[in-house]
Amino acid sequence: MKPHAKYVWFNGKIVRWEDAKIHVMTHALHYGTSIFEGIRGYWNGDNLLIFRLDDHVERMFKSAKILGVTIPYTREEVRKAVIETTQANNFREDVYIRPVAFVSTETVTLDIRSLEVSLAVIIFPFGKYLSPKGIRAAIVSWRRAHNTMLPVMAKIGGIYVNSVLALTEAKSRGYDEALLMDLNGYVVEGSGENIFVVRGRKLYTPPVHQSILEGITRDTILRLSSDLGIQAEERPITREEIYTADEVFLVGTAAEVTPVVEVDGRPIGSGEPGPITMKIAEFYSNVVRGRVEKYLNWLTPVY
Ligand code: PMP
Repeated sequence: MKPHAKYVWFNGKIVRWEDAKIHVMTHALHYGTSIFEGIRGYWNGDNLLIFRLDDHVERMFKSAKILGVTIPYTREEVRKAVIETTQANNFREDVYIRPVAFVSTETVTLDIRSLEVSLAVIIFPFGKYLSPKGIRAAIVSWRRAHNTMLPVMAKIGGIYVNSVLALTEAKSRGYDEALLMDLNGYVVEGSGENIFVVRGRKLYTPPVHQSILEGITRDTILRLSSDLGIQAEERPITREEIYTADEVFLVGTAAEVTPVVEVDGRPIGSGEPGPITMKIAEFYSNVVRGRVEKYLNWLTPVY
């Protein structure tokens, strides 16, 4: 479904969705010079709760620093813009929040040092991104870019061509999602998710220095699994460890905790979502909807 809302926050003002437009010569459209975040807000029947807002805003400023641009607002102003936009739309359902800063000067130059940066905050109703019942994934031929080529730790628009190519390949082969290997052949990520593998009773996930995005959900899952008494280790994961894993799941703001039940035509474990995955998914869903006292400080109420 096409995203839609009544209002968008654009360069300091709340404007109608239809009026949030840019020129075709905008720098970011040609060169991918944008920085964005993906955040979720959860409606708990009483209030809309934004999950780890401060951490997402912080990562956005880090992405800007890596690209070498200055977002012309403070962290607090971006935070306020997210809340104001949600309130202006009066959302009473689950939403996806997309702040995007982009080099907005109309120019062909590659020298971005003195160019203008615009900021928009787009928020729209959002349900499941991937099936919580489990997905089929393919390890694709496109590799996750190495961080000596592109700063994959940053959410920069242009870097997502890597994800687009990977997902397109997986979809055209009949799969739901792509898994990407790094240059050394270790499986590092989904097209928009971090990956976890269960072998025995233990969790494994690739370390942050291994050409991955330092996912906020990944960090959440590492903390929640420790609460559940499940051991987790950050280390490289091989393709054959994926094929022979007891369970595999993907995590991300959009994907939340998504079981992977098949990879390259091979069933993972029993071919059904596994018990550890389900336990973690349930705990995650309780945390994001404000049902776990210990983690209420991760939630920003909008109303
Ligand atoms: N890896 C990639 C490439 C992503 O695009 C995302 C989604 N932002 C993730 C991992 C997961 O990150 P997060 O949990 O912060 O949403």
